[in-house]
Amino acid sequence: MAESLNLRQRLEHAGLAFQQQYGRPPTRAFRAPGRVNLIGEHTDYSGGLVLPLAIDRDVLALVAPAPARRVRIFSLAFDEAREFALGAAEAGAPSGHWSDYVRGVLSALEQQGLDLVGCDLLVESAVPIGSGLSSSAAFTVALAQALASVAGHALQPVDLALLCQAAEQRAAGVECGIMDQFAATLSRRGCALFIDCAQASYQHLPFDERRARVVVADSATRRALAEADYNTRRREVEHALDWLRRERGIDSLRAIEPGDLDEALEGMPELLDRRVRHVVEENRRVAASVAALQRGEVETLGLLMLTSHASLRSLFEVSTPELNALVEAAVEAPGCLGAKLSGAGFGGSTVNLVRPEQVERFCQALAHGYRQRTGLEASLSPCWSADGASEIAVLSAEC
Ligand code: ADP
Ligand code: MG
Repeated sequence: MAESLNLRQRLEHAGLAFQQQYGRPPTRAFRAPGRVNLIGEHTDYSGGLVLPLAIDRDVLALVAPAPARRVRIFSLAFDEAREFALGAAEAGAPSGHWSDYVRGVLSALEQQGLDLVGCDLLVESAVPIGSGLSSSAAFTVALAQALASVAGHALQPVDLALLCQAAEQRAAGVECGIMDQFAATLSRRGCALFIDCAQASYQHLPFDERRARVVVADSATRRALAEADYNTRRREVEHALDWLRRERGIDSLRAIEPGDLDEALEGMPELLDRRVRHVVEENRRVAASVAALQRGEVETLGLLMLTSHASLRSLFEVSTPELNALVEAAVEAPGCLGAKLSGAGFGGSTVNLVRPEQVERFCQALAHGYRQRTGLEASLSPCWSADGASEIAVLSAEC
């Protein structure tokens, strides 16, 4: 992931592309960030705890109202245009095309009873696609905000997030939890976002970037999230919960203390046992990470991230040889506090916690160590934390 252009340059570039595509300038612009997940992996969809951090890589959605009752959209990332009639946006079966997400957002907005207006949109993105940084939530959130705002509706961040979660679930067939959308709408610069997915409640925790920096390491391997694996893990967690309800009268994985795991899981099929152990212990690690951040103990957070990765590798089985190689190389690099895969796994990126003064040397050593282990080139990006979705001023309606 190349160092992103600054916002002004990107807006200028996207504004020109808008003008070229539609023959007039955009009137408004919106942005929504991607995120790393510091810790709390595969816990959100069973009502667990997560700790994402929005990063300074975002999606821009430029928009201008149009007289016709239709929405036109151009994605710069895919260099492709699509058009939708208003009032006819059924989510339908996922096709695997990026326009599924647009249809999902349109139908979710219309199902909320929001009157939409015809408009033209152009989307520019600095969030790498399919690499575990949640480009899909940044895309749908920026899009939903643009579509709602241009029609005169102001959506609260939580409502915006829930709507985009529904859009992604229905239209793309990805049964995602609420983490990515909450991170895209509710985050604050200088803070991690602690989310209790059972309550849909959240808390901003100070994340001091003078003590620890986030470095994203892209493994240069991809696997689409919509693929069977993610949904399979969800199914497995659901089956485990069914078993616990039936055999133990336990309704939620949150009700199990790590110390009670052996007793609670006695007799459970072995594969489900491993999945449950990961989720229960991961929730505990998130709680410990929250306490560590509150005390400013970034070293403790780093160690918990390493334990999280080991569990994702051996118990939840969502890591890959490349992600493991990245984590192993990170541990040997100077300044490393912690490292783990970020997002659903099955390829994509790791998130590294690094001492600020060592970031450059860390990146050099990690690139070298990864190349030696895999022959692949990792793409390394030191990131800053970022605010959640917002409107940004377009340069000039007359440009
Ligand atoms: P991740 O969210 O980790 O990046 P996903 O597989 O969940 O990966 O989402 C990626 C999908 O989101 C893309 O294949 C595409 O359909 C959609 N998407 C993301 N960004 C854009 C964009 N800028 N333009 C169009 N579609 C996008
Ligand atoms: Mg996604």
